Amino acid sequence: MADGPSHPTEDCDARAQVLTTTTRTLEADVGGVKVGGCNPVVVQSMTNTDTADPAATAGQVKALADAGSEIVRITVNNKQAAAAVPELFSRLGDLGCSVPIVGDFHYNGHVLLREFPEAAQLLAKYRINPGNVGTSRRDENFQTIVRIAADNGKAVRIGVNWGSLDQRLLTELMDQNAKRADPKDASEVLRDAMIESAVRSAAFAVNAGLPPNRILLSAKVSGVRDLVAVYRQLAPLTSHPLHLGLTEAGMGAKGIVATAAALAPLLLDGIGDTIRVSLTPRPGGDRTEEVRVAQQILQSLEMRSFEPQVTACPGCGRTTSTFFQEMTEDIQSYVRERMPAWKRSAPGVEDLKVAVMGCVVNGPGESRHADLGISLPGAFEDPKAPVYVDGAHFRTLKGDGIVEDFKRILDDYVARKFGGSAA
Ligand code: SF4
Repeated sequence: MADGPSHPTEDCDARAQVLTTTTRTLEADVGGVKVGGCNPVVVQSMTNTDTADPAATAGQVKALADAGSEIVRITVNNKQAAAAVPELFSRLGDLGCSVPIVGDFHYNGHVLLREFPEAAQLLAKYRINPGNVGTSRRDENFQTIVRIAADNGKAVRIGVNWGSLDQRLLTELMDQNAKRADPKDASEVLRDAMIESAVRSAAFAVNAGLPPNRILLSAKVSGVRDLVAVYRQLAPLTSHPLHLGLTEAGMGAKGIVATAAALAPLLLDGIGDTIRVSLTPRPGGDRTEEVRVAQQILQSLEMRSFEPQVTACPGCGRTTSTFFQEMTEDIQSYVRERMPAWKRSAPGVEDLKVAVMGCVVNGPGESRHADLGISLPGAFEDPKAPVYVDGAHFRTLKGDGIVEDFKRILDDYVARKFGGSAA
């Protein structure tokens, strides 16, 4: 991974506080990406292509990896998908993409991993759901998957999901609860069952021969409060790295806001070693949005930096034209456009803070707080835009070329402060 958390010591301390038996979560190696311990929270994502179509899947994996996904999961749901894994890896190799690939298995993972040893060997991690490994021979199937992982030196995520919870365990806990003098409500028992399923399954995997540092856990639900409660309950009980995500978050603003609302309190508590944002894309929509949202959550929490942040006021009656909105969008796009080159030539540029403000009320103040800021003239103000660099007035821009002039100042600032050449 390219960058570390902004405050590694604080993050690590926060994690340590939620664990009772160890100082931090264990560090797992997922195809070369370290997850857990004091490592930065890892961003991951999942394809929605048919894995049996290796060309389409390779294209999407590459797009997700290019967007910043550090681990990518693919579904391996049938023999055609498992058989296509070697070609997928070969195509990714041709594309110069080496992101670790996780196989998502349900119901038949024990069969597919046994019958397709090349896929088992290529995948960096297997994701299995204890509620979906078969019914009559469930333990045996689970054990088969775990042994194949152990033999191949792979990690396993034991991913409990309340939509597919182990019904035998839930019934057992419901029965126990019914006998209590003061029974818990059903949602609490459901939560207990999810946690118990994750913890018991991890212990089972260790007994079956999988080293503890190759086990990651998740317990996903689709309700924000439930997710926070489940992970707060689970975190002190385990030292396995935790995969965090609000399952079935939904579409657009609803999915983004719900995910951020659920993940933020947990991440701030030091809970969560890797995150995935489960957004439903619009038909034909861009799958990489979930990666950008995950990155933005971590950057907003000042846990990691991925790209310069452009602060802008919302605008109000004091901004009478769309110029301010257009300029903000233009600068935001310009930063994205320049990032691939800046990443190579200007290490550390992802920490840059730029402000584009609409008028004199908060403009100069906010601009001074940024590394580089511009305060545009609001209605009835003189048509001039003071620019601030490192908290001090630098220049005042006027006329039709304000946006281009500001981009030049931005390029010069990046070159001067972080190295590399101006555009
Ligand atoms: S800075 Fe000015 S334009 Fe922007 S929201 Fe505040 S008052 Fe309105």
